[in-house]
Amino acid sequence: MSKALRIQDLKATVEGEPILKGVNLEIRPGEICALMGPNGSGKSTLAYTLMGHPKYTVTGGEIYLGDRPLLAMDPSERSQAGLFLAFQYPHEIPGVTITNFLRTALKARGRDLDIFDFQDLMEAKMDLLEMDRAFAQRYLNDGFSGGEKKRAEILQMLMLEPSIAILDETDSGLDVDALRIVSQGVNSLRGPNFAALVITHYQRILDYITPDRVFIFMDGRIVQEGGPELAKYIEQEGYDAIRAEQAVEA
Ligand code: ADP
Ligand code: MG
Repeated sequence: MSKALRIQDLKATVEGEPILKGVNLEIRPGEICALMGPNGSGKSTLAYTLMGHPKYTVTGGEIYLGDRPLLAMDPSERSQAGLFLAFQYPHEIPGVTITNFLRTALKARGRDLDIFDFQDLMEAKMDLLEMDRAFAQRYLNDGFSGGEKKRAEILQMLMLEPSIAILDETDSGLDVDALRIVSQGVNSLRGPNFAALVITHYQRILDYITPDRVFIFMDGRIVQEGGPELAKYIEQEGYDAIRAEQAVEA
């Protein structure tokens, strides 16, 4: 069976600086995996490289979305092929309401719902995320608090129903109630046609979204893989414990 996402020996630079140094990662359909790593290890670089951000230059390796090579696609093709990225720092788009943005995005994916069906769908998803419906008429992320931006990202994910979602530190800046609600949103998509990579540097969100597998990311590559207990180990021992293990192996 083909993988939802397959990353093979991926290398990438930012402004000439090597950041990704041979990333190998496979996610199966239906899996929710966690990618944990310290600040500056290259987690967001991996997320942006997956999405095809022009600032990040791939210098080696391959990525497959299902059976399709991803690197040849531009960002909008990647999105239409089923890849979704929730940004660590969502962009503000003044002048474009959440409603218009989502309707356009769905249309681009060949789902041209009539306005009433669209409204019903969006309101159901907003209710799930305990978002005030008035938000739908606000400009995307414009003046939103950190937590509101994260909920808006998850709303987009629920509407677009991607085959694979990359959530880059969606937990950062959330209070405990927002964290629970956002996690509920992610869990609501769990199923054979959805896979996710939850990027975080804290174990906390993994109390709400139980990962099938946990990857530890350090200095531009994955250095360890395990089950949910690995995340708990990191919480107790810190990344230094992993660094020490690496040093012994080297
Ligand atoms: P993480 O998300 O794990 O905290 P990042 O991927 O954001 O790490 O950063 C990894 C390294 O790449 C850091 O040293 C950071 O300064 C550098 N980097 C990432 N993005 C850029 C960028 N757009 N311009 C310059 N340096 C960058
Ligand atoms: Mg980051």
